[in-house]
Amino acid sequence: MMTVSSYETRAFAAQSPTSGLAPATIRRRDPLPKDVQIEVLFCGVCHSDLHQVRNEWGKTMPTTYPCTPGHEIVGRVTKTGRDVRKFREGDMIAVGCLVDSCRTCPGCREGLEQYCDGPAMFTYNGADKHLGGVTYGGYSASLVVDEDFVLRLPKGLDPAGAAPLVCAGITTYSPLRHWKVGRGQKVGIVGLGGLGHMAVKFAHAMGARVVLFTTSPGKSADAMRLGADEVVVSKDSAAMLKQAGSFDFILDTVSAPHDLNAYVELLKRDGTLTMVGAPEEPLPVGVISLLFRRRRIAGSLIGGLRETQEMLDFCGEHGITSDIEKIAIQDINRAYDRLVKSDVKYRFVIDLASLKR
Ligand code: NAP
Ligand code: ZN
Ligand code: ZN
Repeated sequence: MMTVSSYETRAFAAQSPTSGLAPATIRRRDPLPKDVQIEVLFCGVCHSDLHQVRNEWGKTMPTTYPCTPGHEIVGRVTKTGRDVRKFREGDMIAVGCLVDSCRTCPGCREGLEQYCDGPAMFTYNGADKHLGGVTYGGYSASLVVDEDFVLRLPKGLDPAGAAPLVCAGITTYSPLRHWKVGRGQKVGIVGLGGLGHMAVKFAHAMGARVVLFTTSPGKSADAMRLGADEVVVSKDSAAMLKQAGSFDFILDTVSAPHDLNAYVELLKRDGTLTMVGAPEEPLPVGVISLLFRRRRIAGSLIGGLRETQEMLDFCGEHGITSDIEKIAIQDINRAYDRLVKSDVKYRFVIDLASLKR
């Protein structure tokens, strides 16, 4: 590992799965020639932050403490290394879930850095190849990232509402594009949280007929306003039965264990149920119902840099941002407790100005 100089910056961090988040100091490298230094203005609160902070992925992606999460970052460039070409001081930019990758494996060469064999360097709890230890995310005042992993924020988008686009946005946009969702198709979105509400907006903007499945009847009117054509309360088995065998594609954004078979039954022949929600425990699947209609279950992870920029530009053209509740960083533990109860409309975004208090 190279020896690089570093500086201290204010942040919030968890010290253990049960400590909650509290003020802390973390280190950032001094910008290298291709690095951009960023003042963090806003950071969205993804359910993945909560899974990581509470070590809910302990078997597959154990958390290293202290942990500073946050990968829906919007900020302003404060300094650039001497070889930076794409950005200048003062530019408004975004940083998502990736801060580097190997750049040579097949995934990286195809612009699918999220599937890097390296593996990719994730924005938090990833191996930090410059400073050692793990990377720290956007619940912090300042961040340093290689320019190739920094995104341009389209003009005209509200910076706070745009922050969730670089995780919740791209995670739903990418599978909708990959499975070619569009006009003439019936698409299901499961769960109306941070990811789900972006999925409803995108699937609607892409021209599909959109059905939202929710466990929260109180979210129905919002779902329709966000772009759903129909809402089904998933606990209502008669309403579920009416939808059997009718979907081309279903995107499942649920953060907790739940019954996948109920959704497999809703697919047409050759239909696909794609998981983006990430409960760690295995979920049982009835194989027979897959066989009879050649149905598929798939997964999808965020999106590569090229597609993330494409998604941001799509949002710029269509005026799409996230519906947010802005919070001070001191409210973060209460926000997590609400997230667990599916009580968010529809993404918490931290205003990092509060970190200066
Ligand atoms: P979120 O805002 O908490 O939304 C999750 C939604 O799932 C809730 O609003 C709720 O919607 C539904 N839900 C929650 N518990 C449920 C249960 N027990 N049974 C059925 N439905 C339930 O979370 P998020 O930030 O959108 O993230 C969702 C999941 O995606 C998390 O597991 C996160 O780690 C994962 N994720 C994956 C990727 C990826 O690359 N694949 C990227 C980002 C996040 P209703 O109230 O409408 O039922
Ligand atoms: Zn996320
Ligand atoms: Zn790679």
